Amino acid sequence: MSERSESAQRAAAPEVTGESEVADLCRDLIRIDTSNYGDGSGPGERKAAEYVAEQLAEFGLEPRIIESAKGRASTVVRIEGEDRSRPGLLIHGHTDVVPANAADWTYDPFSGEIADGCVWGRGAVDMKDMDAMTLAVVRDRLRTGRKPPRDLVLAFLADEEAGGTYGARYLVDKHPDLFEGVTEAIGEVGGFSFTVNDRTRLYLVETAEKGMHWMRLTVEGRAGHGSMENDDNAITELCEAVARLGRHQFPLRITKTVRAFLDELSDALGVELDPENMDETLRVLGGIAKMIGTTLRNTAQPTMLGAGYKVNVIPGQATAHVDGRFLPGYEEEFLAELDSVLGPRVKRESLHSDKAIETSFDGALVEAMQTALRAEDPIARAVPYCLSGGTDAKSFQDLGIRCFGFAPLQLPPELDFAGMFHGVDERVPVEGLKFGVRVLDRFIDAC
Ligand SMILES: [Zn+2]
Repeated sequence: MSERSESAQRAAAPEVTGESEVADLCRDLIRIDTSNYGDGSGPGERKAAEYVAEQLAEFGLEPRIIESAKGRASTVVRIEGEDRSRPGLLIHGHTDVVPANAADWTYDPFSGEIADGCVWGRGAVDMKDMDAMTLAVVRDRLRTGRKPPRDLVLAFLADEEAGGTYGARYLVDKHPDLFEGVTEAIGEVGGFSFTVNDRTRLYLVETAEKGMHWMRLTVEGRAGHGSMENDDNAITELCEAVARLGRHQFPLRITKTVRAFLDELSDALGVELDPENMDETLRVLGGIAKMIGTTLRNTAQPTMLGAGYKVNVIPGQATAHVDGRFLPGYEEEFLAELDSVLGPRVKRESLHSDKAIETSFDGALVEAMQTALRAEDPIARAVPYCLSGGTDAKSFQDLGIRCFGFAPLQLPPELDFAGMFHGVDERVPVEGLKFGVRVLDRFIDAC
């Protein structure tokens, strides 16, 4: 049976709702292997784009499938709202995933197994969950004839896991008309819950992202015979600089987003949190401490080394690669500090860089998130946080779109959610997906 007739059957059954089909949609998407190896060899983005388009076309929408290169397909559709004079809202998700090694997994990562109350597989939280929730909510609204209050643009994107060049970046550069009139957006990585105690469950909404500099460091030295003394050995010089950098701790910098997060957390806990004593704060945060901890400072981690070609030859050059991440507002400080740690012998080249972004946690859209969450979870409290990585939001910001990470999920406290991203046995609770559908539906009503 084709996917289309299967979903047509689902649509025909009167009891089908967004909640009832969201896990199936998520499973179907996981079964399409959209691994992105970063070299264009991933097989599945086109298939995923077609699957998404079919789900939307079933209810009369006319989605566009746009290819940036062969097989690198994204699906975009606009849904007319009640008040077309209002600016539009973008809901975006990527369809590609990072590769998975099946031997490490309990269930095959592309089987979309539903077991122990979870949908298992690569992409279950990053981010076929949100793709499925978006499809489920939109299909339900179309099925029941409920228009959104304003225009919605849905974008299901290729290539996020390799920087978005063939997905969001391409659409923003080549097809900005698709997003005309759009002023706000929701996407990954936010909206997930962190249960503080039986009175408070925080939902972390992403309002900021660190920026990045991927760099190559080079030291030139004097080449020569390995048996000779050499006080200008490129390897020695480079290694000293790399070791200094690797051990360097950049200073604590509390951005306005992290400050707001800490204020909310301390209010929820009823205790003062000392930003100067983050160890204690991070202890309170348990599983999400690693997500928050890395947004307190700039970081620069050495990741690759290269030099030499024979044991008795001193090479004239040595290189290293560094993955640098900076906080919003601290790019200049980051680069200056980096150079001072590395010293004058090291030549630094940028291989790839992307900006940091930050927006404030206020306004009607944030209210809509709060309201929707509280309606489904009386102890919900949405709080802003900064993501240490990057998402397609960086591209959409270039169109003046204000971006939030809001893919609502209620999670059991024991689930290591941060560890699910790109992790082994990635999975999402079915109840969490259903919760997300209800919240997103309310959110759209209030947006
Ligand atoms: Zn993602």
